[in-house]
Amino acid sequence: MQMQSLDEVYMNKLKDLYDAENQIVDALPKMAKAASSEDLKAAFEKHLEQTKGQIGRLDEVFEMLGVSAGNRQCVGMRGLLEEGEELLNGQEGGPALDAALIAAAQSVEHYEIAGYGSVQTWARELGQLEAADLLEETLEEERETDESLTEIAESLVNPDAGAEDIENNPELIDDSDEESVDQAEEA
Ligand code: FE
Ligand code: FE
Repeated sequence: MQMQSLDEVYMNKLKDLYDAENQIVDALPKMAKAASSEDLKAAFEKHLEQTKGQIGRLDEVFEMLGVSAGNRQCVGMRGLLEEGEELLNGQEGGPALDAALIAAAQSVEHYEIAGYGSVQTWARELGQLEAADLLEETLEEERETDESLTEIAESLVNPDAGAEDIENNPELIDDSDEESVDQAEEA
């Protein structure tokens, strides 16, 4: 197999991400419609608008590079979104479907975080600093989206977790805390 130059690897990944974002624009309205939690619906709708902006940033990057986005298919995103769509088949709306939708959406965000992490690093290595900055802005949005999905997931599982709940359910305290308590006691 012919080795590609970094420049080609970078360009191919940008084209992949372009198709991925376009697939996401089609998927998010369906996910928002299927969500029961108002917070989750709002998060999907907000990310739909952000995603359209991310496509705009990629358009800018392609313009800077003087290439067209082409019609490369992002097979990875297709698979992730197909898995997400399977959830909607026959599953009734409610907290369980919301939890599954969040998990599917977070897989998508993690895929994007990996992709944008790579292209923004390569853009810097190739001396394309303006493009790198645009790609980093998108990377930051994907990270924020992932974090807000985690928060929504936690609020769905445990809508009013407080000190009292934790006293009655010691298993709510995660292991890392227990370890630090143990260490504190040993010290
Ligand atoms: Fe995106
Ligand atoms: Fe995203």
